[in-house]
Amino acid sequence: IKLKIVDIPVPITVGPAFEGETIRKKEAWVEFGGGRSPGFELVRMADADHVEDGKIEVVGPEIDEMPEGSVFPMGIIVDIYGRKMQEDFEGVLERRIHYFINYGEGLWHVAQRDLCWLRISKGAKEAGFKIRHFGELLIAKFKSDYPAIVDRVQVTLITDAQVIDEKIKIAREKYQARDARLKGLTDESVDTFYSCTLCQSFAPNHVCIVSPERVGLCGAVSWLDAKASNEITPTGPNQPITKGECLDEAKGMWKNLNDFLYTSSNRTLEEVNLYTLMDKPMTSCGCFEAIMAVLPLTNGVMITTREHSGDTPCGMSFSTLAGTCGGGVQTPGFMGIGRRYVVSSKFIPADGGLGRIVWMPKELKEYLKDELAERAVQLGLGADFVDKIADETVGITEEEILPFLEERQHPALKMDPLM
Ligand code: SF4
Ligand code: ZN
Repeated sequence: IKLKIVDIPVPITVGPAFEGETIRKKEAWVEFGGGRSPGFELVRMADADHVEDGKIEVVGPEIDEMPEGSVFPMGIIVDIYGRKMQEDFEGVLERRIHYFINYGEGLWHVAQRDLCWLRISKGAKEAGFKIRHFGELLIAKFKSDYPAIVDRVQVTLITDAQVIDEKIKIAREKYQARDARLKGLTDESVDTFYSCTLCQSFAPNHVCIVSPERVGLCGAVSWLDAKASNEITPTGPNQPITKGECLDEAKGMWKNLNDFLYTSSNRTLEEVNLYTLMDKPMTSCGCFEAIMAVLPLTNGVMITTREHSGDTPCGMSFSTLAGTCGGGVQTPGFMGIGRRYVVSSKFIPADGGLGRIVWMPKELKEYLKDELAERAVQLGLGADFVDKIADETVGITEEEILPFLEERQHPALKMDPLM
């Protein structure tokens, strides 16, 4: 292992040792995003003329103007110029923001894109940490970790509520454009999937397998991102795996993927199925955007999200579920997923696909609305299928939602038994 020592001009210690550090609400001086306030992060490729190397701008209040225990919006824009930089690399570098920020003692970061959530601890504030220091940290890390593609970096940090509303639109357009480039790529149309082992820093045996139709469970690593990441760092966390011999077409098991999994899970896992949550499903680390769980009484599955803090029909809230199923183990009947995987045509096909979903938070329904309807029509479930899925307004126990599903003749009730 090559250890790079970089001198980062921030008043806190920076290093992988702090990656697993949690900062609870009561330990935080200020927090940003996470559904409590608008937040986003964006890495953009820019022309040489538009990037002033090392420039950091804070648009809005600095930390001194933020009272103890307050919530502020946060937009992080990282503009990068590099002769070898490509647009395809943006998403990959953007995901690094999560890791770089977590390296800072007293800094905490979860999720990504416009769902990101950050905290600065009281200790870091006392040590003199300022909002602008996020910029120092990111600039130093991007330049030291990616010298081959990053020549100049500039960072804009937005804490002003009005400015963020305007800039978040630019970010969302970018996210959409990235997602759109994936459309048309199917699991069958490629012979190579990619691994992602980035999360092994805190879930040592966890391996994500990223295919064109299944985004990494953090929602931030698509097949194209993994491919680009491998071009940037051929020995890095995203390795190409030629699928090779298919062992089970319906459940999605391939010999080479199993072999890869065995080695990179430190020999703790032997087999993985990509297309089911019931039998040797993919492992879950801790940063999944959403999590699925079987609801035996309804013969269906439910999904809850990081954004939804309430109880769910499986008897557990998102955080309890995350604590139960995280850490990089296979838990049949439970599985962490990226939000967009729900509308993939490879959404648990071996378990009946989309038609199995009997409950999800209203917010997720709203978020995926058009695509859910589109997928439902494609699958012959009818455009009104979405209205057959229960949510928290219908009930938060299996008993509460069952009459609703029966009344609406939810398709899961007539499917083969799940268990
Ligand atoms: Fe990679 Fe999976 Fe972690 Fe996302 S959740 S960073 S895809 S290992
Ligand atoms: Zn993870």
